[in-house]
Amino acid sequence: MAERVLLISDLHLEEQRPDITAAFKNFLLSNQANCTSLYILGDLFEVWIGDDAQTPLAQEIAISLAEFSKAGSDVFLMHGNRDFLIGESFAQQCDMSLIPDPFELTAGNFRALLLHGDTLCTDDIDYQLFRTMVRNPDWQAEFLAKTVDERIAYAREARRQSQLATGQKTTEIMDVNADAVQKLFTESKHLTLIHGHTHRPAMHVVSSASTNSAAIEHKRIVLGDWDQKLWYVEIQNSEAALRSEPLTN
Ligand code: MN
Repeated sequence: MAERVLLISDLHLEEQRPDITAAFKNFLLSNQANCTSLYILGDLFEVWIGDDAQTPLAQEIAISLAEFSKAGSDVFLMHGNRDFLIGESFAQQCDMSLIPDPFELTAGNFRALLLHGDTLCTDDIDYQLFRTMVRNPDWQAEFLAKTVDERIAYAREARRQSQLATGQKTTEIMDVNADAVQKLFTESKHLTLIHGHTHRPAMHVVSSASTNSAAIEHKRIVLGDWDQKLWYVEIQNSEAALRSEPLTN
């Protein structure tokens, strides 16, 4: 199989959106045995309260992903801000590997730094504080020790508060911070960043001055969420393209 890498993010799968679940299963079927690897860059699920509290939806997705993987494509999952509690147990069920955020992708001659994208939203101070708290292993162990009902209640309240706060934040605060992007380009030496999270699909070209003062061109490819359309990045022949299709076809 010629190298063909697919990247998706922000499907936000939930029981209330069977159309997105159907679109995802379709996407897997149409790319089965037809890509080298699939990277899911976070927020596959709208909510995840622990591998031990699986819904029929989660099990359905695990079966689809495992079939897709067994047909010959490697599947990788990076955590998003909604499903960061997905653990090794669910990953094994899906026959996929968990990858850290950020992650260096190499596909033939193509290299990129992959992120979920929330770490670039540094203007959203409240969110960054919340992120630091919930990514702490002690917090997670304590949370996972609660009963399923307690966890559902907590997740509901966290989501309610997040929606309240989001309503009061400007779109600038919710987007990536330009300095954070610049800093990452400088530190990582990667020419391309691929992330999701902001739900603002685009291919940005960012110039930065290098040490010998010649401008270097960087690309920041932002995946879209699957609310209205399905979005993916396709890497083939060392070129990355951002594509979208209708949810149903
Ligand atoms: Mn997100």
